[in-house]
Amino acid sequence: MNSLYLNKVSKSFGKLEVLNSITLELLENELLVILGPSGCGKSTLLRLIAGLEDLSSGEIYLHDNRIDQLEPKARNVAMVFQNYSLYPHMTVEKNLGFPLKIAKEKKSVINEKVDAIASMLGLTEKLKQKPSQLSGGQRQRVALGRAIIRKPDIFLLDEPLSNLDADLRLKMRREIVRIQQELQTTMIHVTHDQAEALSMADRILLLNNGEIVQVGTPEELYKKPNSVFTAQFIGFPKINIVDVTIENKLIMPFGFRLESLQIDENIDLPIGIRPEDISLHHDGQYQAKVTSSEYFGEQYITTINYNGIELKISGCQYAKEIDEIVTFSINESSIHIFNKQIGLRIE
Ligand code: ADP
Ligand code: MG
Repeated sequence: MNSLYLNKVSKSFGKLEVLNSITLELLENELLVILGPSGCGKSTLLRLIAGLEDLSSGEIYLHDNRIDQLEPKARNVAMVFQNYSLYPHMTVEKNLGFPLKIAKEKKSVINEKVDAIASMLGLTEKLKQKPSQLSGGQRQRVALGRAIIRKPDIFLLDEPLSNLDADLRLKMRREIVRIQQELQTTMIHVTHDQAEALSMADRILLLNNGEIVQVGTPEELYKKPNSVFTAQFIGFPKINIVDVTIENKLIMPFGFRLESLQIDENIDLPIGIRPEDISLHHDGQYQAKVTSSEYFGEQYITTINYNGIELKISGCQYAKEIDEIVTFSINESSIHIFNKQIGLRIE
């Protein structure tokens, strides 16, 4: 059973087309991460689902009921915003209970549910405090709690971690996944951070310029990027994209053989080589000059120049000197070949 279904959803603001024919099906209890650069339409998509904007065309269904004509409060959709939007004059307890109070729940029911949510989120000690007395992470948890408390059919999180410091961001990723699993709820989490998407998602939807680029599991997007865009957006350090020429079934200048590929002879196209698929060792296949060596604690990232081509190599154990001559090899079976015209993957 699908839980949310978007059929050819488009949105324009005046002449500006922000979303172009988005079709998407979410499974029950799925955690979908919408990933994409700033301005690509992520927030607009969530706001359409929540009913905070009207569609220009298309339909939205929640559990087979069409909801795109309904008022936001009739949709049973909960949204958490980047800036939390807590009520500053209310205590944590009142903030958490607010959606139930609006729904005219009994006081005893509200108290019971607030206590349960507070204990689930580790906020029991903070119930009598105001948002200004809380840390960023605690405020974030109050915002999550306030969204959870009504038991929404779907849970929309718009970059909820981007105001937190790095440590807390990592911790809250796990926390959100835990909450989602504990509540057995469908969730859409929006981020522009590819590492966050990889670590949290059941599936990732990669958006660019208001269009879906690729939808799949984190592994599918990483290992089988369908386009240069996906390949470059996912992974750190960034994939090396190199313009090569196919000559007599050889990828030049590397000389990989392409027997199995159905490619016309003598064309130029981009290939992708992940930085972990290149290794430096003394009897490597190719010779290059080091242009930089960056220390990351657990690894060095070395940049080399091979025939005018810059390549990044990750996982290096030792520092290299600038201008040092090194030899390297490439794991040939893991290169990604793309079609130049549209930047799409060739199998
Ligand atoms: P993202 O969340 O991916 O950063 P948004 O969905 O906020 O992107 O915005 C997508 C595009 O739509 C941007 O170009 C933005 O300026 C534009 N936009 C968003 N909301 C409005 C609005 N209410 N009126 C006009 N343009 C808008
Ligand atoms: Mg946004």
